[in-house]
Amino acid sequence: MKRWVYLFSEGSKEQRDLLGGKGANLAEMTKLGLPVPTGFTVTTEACLHYLNNGNVLTDDMKDQVMASVMQLEEKTGKSFGDFKNPLLVSVRSGSKFSMPGMMDTVLNLGLNDETVESLVRNSENERFAYDCYRRLLQMFGDVVMGIDNSKFESRITQLKQSEGLNFDNELTANHWKRIVSEYKQLYRENLDRDFPQDPVEQLYLAIEAVFGSWNNNRAKTYRRLHDISDDLGTAVNIQEMVFGNFGETSGTGVVFSRNPSNGEPGLFGEYLINAQGEDVVAGVRTPKSIQVLAEDMPEQFEQLDTICKNLEKHYKDMQDVEFTIERGKLFILQTRSGKRTSKAQLAIILDLFKEGIIDEETLVQRIEAKDLEAALHPSFDVKALKNRVHFLSGLAASPGAAVGAAYFTAEAATEAKDRGERVILVREETSPEDIEGIAVAEAVVTSRGGMTSHAAVVARGMGICSVVGCEALTVVDGENRGTVGEETIEEGTILSVDGTAGKIYFGEIPMEEVANTVALDDLHEIWDRHATIKVRANAETPNDIETAMALGAVGIGLARTEHMFFEKTRLLQFRRLILADTLQERQEVLKELKEVQKQDFKFMYQAGAGKSENVRLLDPPLHEFLPKTTEECREVAKALGKTLNEVKRKSDNLSETNPMLGFRGLRLGVAYPEIYQMQGEAIIEAAYEVMAEQGFEIKPEIMIPFTIDATEFATVRHSIEEAVQKVMAEKQLPLDYQIGTMIEIPRACFVADEIAKHADFFSFGTNDLTQMVLGLSRDDSPRIVTQYLDAGIFQDDPFQVIDEAGVGAMIKIAIENGRKTNPNLKIGICGEAAAHPKSIEFLSTLPIDYISCSPFRIPQAKMKLAQVRVEETIK
Ligand code: PEP
Ligand code: MG
Repeated sequence: MKRWVYLFSEGSKEQRDLLGGKGANLAEMTKLGLPVPTGFTVTTEACLHYLNNGNVLTDDMKDQVMASVMQLEEKTGKSFGDFKNPLLVSVRSGSKFSMPGMMDTVLNLGLNDETVESLVRNSENERFAYDCYRRLLQMFGDVVMGIDNSKFESRITQLKQSEGLNFDNELTANHWKRIVSEYKQLYRENLDRDFPQDPVEQLYLAIEAVFGSWNNNRAKTYRRLHDISDDLGTAVNIQEMVFGNFGETSGTGVVFSRNPSNGEPGLFGEYLINAQGEDVVAGVRTPKSIQVLAEDMPEQFEQLDTICKNLEKHYKDMQDVEFTIERGKLFILQTRSGKRTSKAQLAIILDLFKEGIIDEETLVQRIEAKDLEAALHPSFDVKALKNRVHFLSGLAASPGAAVGAAYFTAEAATEAKDRGERVILVREETSPEDIEGIAVAEAVVTSRGGMTSHAAVVARGMGICSVVGCEALTVVDGENRGTVGEETIEEGTILSVDGTAGKIYFGEIPMEEVANTVALDDLHEIWDRHATIKVRANAETPNDIETAMALGAVGIGLARTEHMFFEKTRLLQFRRLILADTLQERQEVLKELKEVQKQDFKFMYQAGAGKSENVRLLDPPLHEFLPKTTEECREVAKALGKTLNEVKRKSDNLSETNPMLGFRGLRLGVAYPEIYQMQGEAIIEAAYEVMAEQGFEIKPEIMIPFTIDATEFATVRHSIEEAVQKVMAEKQLPLDYQIGTMIEIPRACFVADEIAKHADFFSFGTNDLTQMVLGLSRDDSPRIVTQYLDAGIFQDDPFQVIDEAGVGAMIKIAIENGRKTNPNLKIGICGEAAAHPKSIEFLSTLPIDYISCSPFRIPQAKMKLAQVRVEETIK
């Protein structure tokens, strides 16, 4: 017979597929001897069977559930429906992956008109017992029977109003009794039936409701947003109730074993005295910080602290633990890996490693690309922030900074996003129904709820900036505006939200682009120990080079010298060069340019502080540099002392049908050798000067772009070397330089053995190589690529992920050919696609020395390279 049900004492943490994450962890904690209320799990397989076979609990399932209930009864000495000592249980969903608040829970199941009286007797607390009963009626009505929860809530609100009371905890036993009878009436009005008094019927219906909740809309949306398969199903955990609402020596709370916002060690969380679990999560009452528990109940705090530390060691990860204290006795209700910000994730992983809880390989494997990306997120510009005064503050629930227009419902937020606006979702509190609105928001702001409220947990998990519990803010449902004292936030009001400080400002505050590299330094050291392929940067401005070095580049792999001429006065000099009519005119310009370039290279060397620097000689697609309109031609003519007609004629002569395949790179070098000679001299002279000034050694790498042929390359190399040697002869000092080539034209791959006889290194330019191997223009291809992706012809955009079958094969041929004649040939890859994780998986199989990418992609590339190697060693 198929097993549909497992006692907690029978399972283990490895069985997440079958028992769900919660069930597997409850079983594991039971095995570890932790104080877990006893219970059992109905499997995910039972859920799938139920959903796929007409929504029926089979007799088998029912028999097994009842057999487990009997075991529960035996262990607890209580029994279902027993007048003296009734067994009460919680029924909770739990799928393989945590989906907080997405599916359903029923507490206090087993209560009915009779057992509530025994709870009164046993607890000697009538108020408590009837509060429990009304909660069951409410949750069961909402979750199992589909009665709108607001109907229940409005009864409580009406009662409080009529009695002149503000808070639920001011309601007496008699009040709750009245509510209970009104709730029963609600069942009759809405369903034409009574609340089921039989605990067994309650249990079967609750199990069915949890199974069904796998397919509710919010669960489906959550799965879509988090890439969770629809085919997993949810398990159901049935567990003896323990009560945090038994009075002043009882309570309930949620703790993280470390701070989920910034990763700092030590318990972090909240609890409420005399409350049940959902009170904390729903943010109905503002909870106390867990540190206060150390004073309120020191013994229980100590025990909780020890348990959390042990759970962390056992699971080798930061834990999110739900606990209840019933009349002084601590129970652990759940543990799972805690959701955290990306910044916290980096800090936690590093700390776990330093504390010896995880090894270096685990550390390398555990960091995800999104964590690194978020660590590099901008914050508000510090100077701009200094002059601003916030008008609202709350709990800093999820760090980051965001600017956007305020919207007060998930729908309005989604519509605004569709219109292209940046959106701040402002709510009293959020519920799972708001998930779409949260997903499109730059930031989430709520007026109620604590650090573990829905808004806080979900926003943190998604890496969205969030400030919750802004008590000065009043948001009334349906009014589409918020008020803070005299101030009003209208729909569309621009807000700046600082999720790190918990502050909100009117208007837009500029962002800071500086990278947060604090934890990265340690990570670089670790990645460098594992990765064999190095990572360099594509950068040429001192600013970019400094950023690249701070982000872990071992050097510069590509400095596009034509990019040094984008600035206005530089552009004019460059135009003068390409529009020059005679060698003499060109040489005059080159003299000026040499000084300018020397300064550029000196800045580069200084910023690189002795690391490898590869300078690529001019490779200007001419259309990017020629004046286009008559107006521009006129301006250029005036500035260069030429006539408009001269400039126009020359520009027309130089204009090309396909400039990306035109007078670029080495074509320019062959036609005007003096240009590359000038650059060669500038590179070498700058190196001498910086070495003399700074004292570190520089080994310049001079890279020639767009090579087609070995003779072509050898000729131009020779002419550059003549110029370089002249400088060296004057200086009379040794200098170790190299001259190599980009490989970005298919022919160059096939004749790479010949080229390599003259080249010290190859660097593959996959942007151009992809363009030519696939025959798709790199500038015009997005439309075609999108079409091909939609049609399933391409799996990935070949300009983002190296096309292994075509471009990859070409690279392999070139490496093999090149190393045949020059075994010491250094090899790098510097096209955009090189840094993509999928490309790295492929490139890691090749005998290359480095990849080179834009500065902000460096950490991710280094991480992926290290991960690939670690995976290989583990295999
Ligand atoms: C390339 O072609 O891949 C390359 C890096 O050079 P560019 O993008 O400057 O043509
Ligand atoms: Mg190129």
